[in-house]
Amino acid sequence: MAGIGEEIGNLLDGLGVDRRAWTEGSLPSFTPLTGEQVAMVRVADTASIDAALDTATAAFRAWRRVPAPRRGELVRLLGDELRAAKDDLARLVTIEAGKVPSEGAGEVQEMIDICDFAVGLSRQLYGLTIATERPGHRMMEVWHPLGVVGVISAFNFPVAVWAWNAALALVCGNSVVWKPSEKTPLTALAVQAVFARAAARFGDAPAGLSQLLIGGRDAGAALVDDKRVALLSATGSTRMGRSVAPRLAARFARAILELGGNNGVIVAPSADLDLALRGVAFGAMGTAGQRCTTTRRLFLHDSIYDGFVAKLKAAYASVGVGNPLEGDVLVGPLIDRAAYEAMQEALAAAKAAGGMVTGGERVGEGASFYVRPALVEMPGQVGPVLDETFAPILYVMRYDDLDVVIDLHNDVAAGLSSSIFTTDVREAERFLAASDCGIANVNLGTSGAEIGGAFGGEKETGGGRESGSDSWRQYMRRATNTINYSDALPLAQGVSFEI
Ligand code: NAD
Repeated sequence: MAGIGEEIGNLLDGLGVDRRAWTEGSLPSFTPLTGEQVAMVRVADTASIDAALDTATAAFRAWRRVPAPRRGELVRLLGDELRAAKDDLARLVTIEAGKVPSEGAGEVQEMIDICDFAVGLSRQLYGLTIATERPGHRMMEVWHPLGVVGVISAFNFPVAVWAWNAALALVCGNSVVWKPSEKTPLTALAVQAVFARAAARFGDAPAGLSQLLIGGRDAGAALVDDKRVALLSATGSTRMGRSVAPRLAARFARAILELGGNNGVIVAPSADLDLALRGVAFGAMGTAGQRCTTTRRLFLHDSIYDGFVAKLKAAYASVGVGNPLEGDVLVGPLIDRAAYEAMQEALAAAKAAGGMVTGGERVGEGASFYVRPALVEMPGQVGPVLDETFAPILYVMRYDDLDVVIDLHNDVAAGLSSSIFTTDVREAERFLAASDCGIANVNLGTSGAEIGGAFGGEKETGGGRESGSDSWRQYMRRATNTINYSDALPLAQGVSFEI
């Protein structure tokens, strides 16, 4: 599509990104909308990573002394700047990650929402006062800033994941060093420019408080292995998590791991089937199946199976697939050829395991990869159903007993998001009590979480929690303080030590 490069240039100029950062580098950057190369981005070398971590350490030392509500003011300004930049940044997300416009805008809105949340939080970083067994003593917990927070993010949420981490990390008194996906460096450059504007308005933020390191796995690995990084928040595949987790553990670093999902929906006999249909359709096909919370497994009760599958197939056949800049489509492109090939391999494996495939074929040709979402009726939870394939494939299975299907639902390695559609309160509660995922919903789909709740999953999803609720505690360290205001020295547990 002629002109996309020019549009990117205009967007980046408008957002305040230095042209040299994306025209004079060595990392080619592509748009999945057409597959064409649109930029050559500068990458961080070993020396610049080292310097960035030194500056981030110095920035932390200054920032931790700034009162938390004042730190919140910087994040308030960041939210302001994001509001002003929302349309352009959302458009860039569409061009670089392939999201349809409403999802691109939703991703930037999520950044704004977490800034609002963090501003309020900046006045609520409180600890406990705890009853002490010793007379004339007071015991309390105090939360302190932690250090440099490293953020590694995935291509499919190219900007929101940074904001989830950075907004909390900054109000908690930390500095931030971000290594975005090598597939989405342009949106990262734009976000860094937006942050720079907020910092300029703030006035006295330390230099290097929020930094960007563009590069591939090696740049990510540098954050993993460097003891100057106190907490690493890594979002991506379980394969990535398997590599970074032991290395972080080896140096006793803190980790927030947000890894792959294999999310399931159960539709019970009493379900509101229209609601279920819409929830499953968005969950399975939205973002072209490239959300960590995408619905990948669907368990339908025998009594509603045939009718529901027929309606779902009709929805699958009607959904628009194509370039979101050129028409009113719901399903944009896969990120690249590798994603398309992984999808086709999974579909072939599903067929070999007895699956009946509808859809899944490529739409168009050339350097971009558009596919019709695939619906696969499976004889059981076998083969590729057990793993996450990051593409729009929905495996459909039958069930007749709720307890059996909940066990089956839980019997995969990942544990991110889950849901049941039912109007029977007993079924709903049995499911909520038994789902082993970090997210369990009733009468809504698996994808589309709000920032107010803690976000993350169990098992091979990594166990991390980001965003709302009390996730902020991970970005701080806790000290238990005991103060003796008596003139005696009683020892705990009645121990006596007279000298
Ligand atoms: P990916 O694992 O290929 O890459 C993610 C990031 O990790 C990139 O920045 C990459 O450069 C870096 N990386 C990869 N290997 C590394 C290593 N060995 N050491 C250090 N850094 C490394 O994932 P992706 O294809 O960009 O994203 C899709 C995956 O992310 C899916 O599995 C999806 O479920 C998952 N995801 C999870 C969440 C969540 O919150 N649980 C959110 C978004 C995406």
